[in-house]
Amino acid sequence: MPLDTLTPPQADVAHPVLAMRQDFTRLGSEFHSATPPQGLPHPRLRMLSADAAALLGLQPPDGDDARQRWAELFSGNRAALDASAISTVYAGHQFGNWAGQLGDGRAHLLGEARADDPRQAMGHAWWEVQLKGAGATPYSRRGDGRAVLRSSIREFLCSEAMHALGVPTTRALCLVDSDLPVRRESLETAAVVTRLSPSFLRFGHFEHFSHGGRHEALRRLVDYTVARLYPAVAESANPALALLREVVAATAPTIARWQCVGFVHGVMNTDNMSMLGWTIDYGPFGFLDAFDPGYTPNTSDSWGRYAWARQPAVARWNLLALAQALLPLIGDEQAARDAVEDFADAFMAAMDRGMQAKLGLRADDDAAAPEPDRDLVRDWLDLLAASRADWTLSHRLLARVVEQPEAPPPQWLRLFDAWPQRAADWLARLRARLHGLDAAARADRARDMLRSNPCYVLRHHLGQQAIALARQGDFSEALRLHRVLRKPFDEQPGCEDLAAAPPPDAGPPVLSCSS
Ligand code: AMP
Ligand code: MG
Repeated sequence: MPLDTLTPPQADVAHPVLAMRQDFTRLGSEFHSATPPQGLPHPRLRMLSADAAALLGLQPPDGDDARQRWAELFSGNRAALDASAISTVYAGHQFGNWAGQLGDGRAHLLGEARADDPRQAMGHAWWEVQLKGAGATPYSRRGDGRAVLRSSIREFLCSEAMHALGVPTTRALCLVDSDLPVRRESLETAAVVTRLSPSFLRFGHFEHFSHGGRHEALRRLVDYTVARLYPAVAESANPALALLREVVAATAPTIARWQCVGFVHGVMNTDNMSMLGWTIDYGPFGFLDAFDPGYTPNTSDSWGRYAWARQPAVARWNLLALAQALLPLIGDEQAARDAVEDFADAFMAAMDRGMQAKLGLRADDDAAAPEPDRDLVRDWLDLLAASRADWTLSHRLLARVVEQPEAPPPQWLRLFDAWPQRAADWLARLRARLHGLDAAARADRARDMLRSNPCYVLRHHLGQQAIALARQGDFSEALRLHRVLRKPFDEQPGCEDLAAAPPPDAGPPVLSCSS
C-alpha cells in the first residue's frame, strides 16, 4: 500500500514544551503499542544539552520552576500529556544468533518535533523525541523498563561527545534522575534520558516483519522509511534495493569515524543498528586508551566479536542481515548481495580519508609520495599496537611531529619506549613523505590535524569518576565532562587531567551489559 493511502498524521500532540506529531502510527497498529510512560517519583533535571535543545528551537529552562517543569515533562510524569506515546516492535540478531522479537523495552516515543532549521539539523526537518527508562512497555519481556543513573550518564555524555567529534549519532536532550530504586547486580537508582533522532528505526524492525513472513507490512515499512529518511530515492523502481544501498552508504562513513576516534560500540547487534547509519544505543561502549585492536569493553563478549578491529566486518554482517530481511521485496539475491558488497569500498574510502587526515597526509599528494599512504598507515597501526601506545595521545601529538619532524616531542617518543628503533624508522618514513613541504605548509597540516585528532574523548575512567560523584548527588564532574567534550579538538586550560591517559591503577576499561 503506498504511503499516501495510509491514515493521515494525527493532530499535533499538545506538549507544554514541544509541539509534536505522532507520525509513526501512520504505519498501522502492528508496528507499535500505545504506551504511556510511567515516569519517576520526585524527578530532578540533572543534565541538559543546549546544543540538542537548539535543534528543536528549544530554550533551556531558566530558573528553578522552569527546571522542575522540565524534570516532570522529561521523566514522563505528565502521562496525560504523553497519551499518544508509543513503543515500537522490532527483532534482531544478537551476537550472531537470531533473538526473535525484542522491541522498545524501555523506550517511549513521544512523537516528532520540527527542527528549528533543518540545515543545522543534519538536513532533517522532523526529529523523534524518545524517553529511555520511563517504565515498562509491552516489549519489556523480563526487564523493568528502567535505566540506571550510571548508564544514563554514559549515554548522555557519549551522545553529545560523539556529535562534537563529528560522528553521526542520536542526540541527548536531557537527563532526569530520581531516588527510585532499581535492582541490577546491586541496588541503584533510576534515570531517564530524552533522546533525539530523525528516526530510531533499526535493522531489527525490518527483520521482525520479514522473519514473520509479513511482507505487506514490510513493504509499508520500506515505503515509510524511504519517504521519511531517504526521499531522494522515493521514485526508485526497486525501493527496497534503493533503501539497502542508502543504508550501506550511510553506515560505512560512520564506522570509519568510529575507527578513527577509537570508539568501540560494544553491542553491534542488528537491533542496535540504525537505518540512518548513525550511532545508536550507548551501552557497554568504550574508547581506546592503550591501543589494542582486539579491545572490547563488553565483558559479555568473551570472543571479542565486537572488538575495535572487527567493527567493519560486523557492520557488513549486519548489512547482510538487513539485505536478507529485505530480500522478499528486492527479489534479486545477486543485486542485494552486490549492494552490501559496496560496503567494503565505501568503508575503505572513508577510512583512507580519515587516517590520512589523522596523519597529516593529503590524498592529492599521494601520487608523488615515496610509498602508498596505506602502507604508512598500516605500519603506524602496527607500531601503536606493539607499543600499546595511547590512541588519542599518540595521534594528538602527531601534529607537533609533522610540524617539526626533526624534533618530535619527548612525550610522543615516550609512547614508543618499548620499540624506539621501530618508532624512529617509521618517523623517517613520515619525514620522507612530507619532504616536499616547507615550514608554512607543515604548520598548515598540523593545524588541520588538530581538527582531526581530538584532545578529549570520553575515556572510561573519566566517566567512572564522574558517575561515582553523581551517585552521591554531585554532578559537577559530569557537567564538566559535558562542557569540555563539546569542544573535543580545543585544548582547554585547567582540563589537562581530561586529556591524559588513565593512571596505571585505573583498572581495565570493561563493563557488563547491565544498564
Ligand atoms: P540493549 O542491549 O540495551 O540494546 O537491549 C536489548 C533489548 O532489551 C531491547 O529490546 C531493550 O529494549 C531491552 N531492554 C534492555 N534493558 C531493559 C530493561 N531494563 N527493561 C526492559 N527492556 C530492556
Ligand atoms: Mg538496544
